[in-house]
Amino acid sequence: MINAGAWQQLHNECASKDIQLVAVSKTKPAADIEALYKLGQRDFGENYVQELVDKQGQLPKDINWHYIGHLQSNKVKYIAPFVHLIHAVDSFKLLIEINKQAQKNNRVIDVLLQMHIADEETKFGMDERDLVEFFQYYDAQKEQLQHVRIRGLMAMATNTDDETQVRTEFHRLHNTFKTFQSSEFLGKSYFDTCSIGMSSDYKIAIEEGGNMIRVGSLLFGERQYH
Ligand SMILES: *Cc1c(COP(=O)(O)O)cnc(C)c1O
Repeated sequence: MINAGAWQQLHNECASKDIQLVAVSKTKPAADIEALYKLGQRDFGENYVQELVDKQGQLPKDINWHYIGHLQSNKVKYIAPFVHLIHAVDSFKLLIEINKQAQKNNRVIDVLLQMHIADEETKFGMDERDLVEFFQYYDAQKEQLQHVRIRGLMAMATNTDDETQVRTEFHRLHNTFKTFQSSEFLGKSYFDTCSIGMSSDYKIAIEEGGNMIRVGSLLFGERQYH
């Protein structure tokens, strides 16, 4: 069951602020995606490769599929033919594999780099030092990486009720984003995406400069994990 009222409200808010809304449909049935699609939603986010491939096969072809979960290199090939944006690139090795599979499919795949901002060991992503190292490799091999385009950064905040902490973490992500915009990606207008914010913290994310939010339970109801 979708919450059409919540979607309409969020959709209007995002449209007025030029923010992209990704509806996170992981674990939810294709019928729920179709219901939101009928209202006008086109961007959907999934976390599991097999589930994404299954849904992509069943649902309208003009859906923009976002892969927002942790991606293993050996699974890139399954989503490479159609994926719209891969949010959570957390190693240079993964970028190389995405480039390779994109080339096989004669396309360029857009990606975001996942930054680790949370105060939790379990969340994936690169910290500032890892990013420096990442770009040392990237800059040295740029010429061979024509089939990936780095569009921006993505992160998840700590799962906490402490709003100040969440705000501080998002702020750090956005600062890093701005630094890249004026250095590594200077003059590259495609480096434009800051993907932060979920159901519980998207308001703070928008206030802190996020321009892509990934919202699941608010639109689709609580999930039962498999
Ligand atoms: C599940 C998930 C979301 C959406 O979470 P909700 O709390 O349901 O809005 C956003 N981003 C990522 C990376 C997720 O895994």
